[in-house]
Amino acid sequence: MKSLIIGETSNGTISSGTLELISKITQEGLDFKLITIGSDENPKIGSDTFKNTYMKLNQNELSLASIADEISNIIKSESINLVLASSTYVGRDIAGFLSVDLNASPISNVVNFKIDGDNLSTTNSIDGGESDYLTNVTSEVKVLIIRPKSFEPSEIELNDNYETVSIEKNNLSVAVQDIFIEEKTGPQLEDSKIVISAGRGMVDVENLKFIEELANKLNAAIGGTRAIVDAGWMPYSQQVGQTGKTVKPDVYIACGISGATQHQVGMKDSKFIIAINKDEEAPIFQIADFGVVGDTLSIIPKLIESL
Ligand SMILES: Cc1cc2nc3c(=O)[nH]c(=O)nc-3n(C[C@H](O)[C@H](O)[C@H](O)COP(=O)(O)OP(=O)(O)OC[C@H]3O[C@@H](n4cnc5c(N)ncnc54)[C@H](O)[C@@H]3O)c2cc1C
Repeated sequence: MKSLIIGETSNGTISSGTLELISKITQEGLDFKLITIGSDENPKIGSDTFKNTYMKLNQNELSLASIADEISNIIKSESINLVLASSTYVGRDIAGFLSVDLNASPISNVVNFKIDGDNLSTTNSIDGGESDYLTNVTSEVKVLIIRPKSFEPSEIELNDNYETVSIEKNNLSVAVQDIFIEEKTGPQLEDSKIVISAGRGMVDVENLKFIEELANKLNAAIGGTRAIVDAGWMPYSQQVGQTGKTVKPDVYIACGISGATQHQVGMKDSKFIIAINKDEEAPIFQIADFGVVGDTLSIIPKLIESL
């Protein structure tokens, strides 16, 4: 099966989601081509073991449709029959464009897949991670959108050995009115070894300063529940869960979070889960490795003081 990974850059290198796809496809013993999309200048994304083409986005244009056109042509001319993308904004959009071009249904929420000769079957997670369903993908080109953290990332040595193609043309009849580029500072949710997340049990937006202080001390990334994102305490980019990000850090500290299934689906695979909640019946304790029953507003300042 000839395969193609749609990759992305992050902080000048290959994103962790892309490294997960590389690891899985290598395990399956398939040769693959990588196309990495990003706007970084001269990222370190090359390798001696696979071919990478860097498609450079102009941040001031909506050029994903143009990129998808290019990728579609490559898929057709090289008779590629398996396309993998991470379930990110870029991955989902590109997979959508490609599916129309290639007359293939995109298969989303994939958490695993198996290849047997020309047959490909997938395991897909639904109902906020409570159920899985299995598919056999019968289209000629199979387009899979993989949920982040489904596989361990590949540990490969990266170099400057790749080609760059600049894509600037926008073939959509959409005029860009304004662009907001999110500032990213400190450890990022997807990559951090420690994640501290806040929920409604932090009581007031003001109290998030305790979470920030603790995160600074532990060099941790900060996440939150949808409840506090909806309340405007935190931007959506920090939401963990079914409709937010999936994280799998070594340590996840849930502060004042009830542990609804929609939240759990984004963090339950963390290696060690610590929960602080004043309600000992809170569902988060069912998946916590270490639980503290008590008031976040007295426990977290004491924790900070002791570090
Ligand atoms: C389609 C859909 C998608 C969703 N996607 C997501 C998602 O991606 N991510 C997500 O997080 N949610 C998501 N949700 C929402 C989810 O169902 C919950 O409503 C949400 O996770 C609850 O957030 P919370 O734990 O902050 O608040 P609550 O459920 O209100 O829990 C607050 C907790 O804080 C505790 N508490 C209160 N005061 C204190 C205190 N002083 N000290 C200690 N503990 C205290 C309480 O005991 C309680 O357990 C989704 C829902 C739907 C329907």
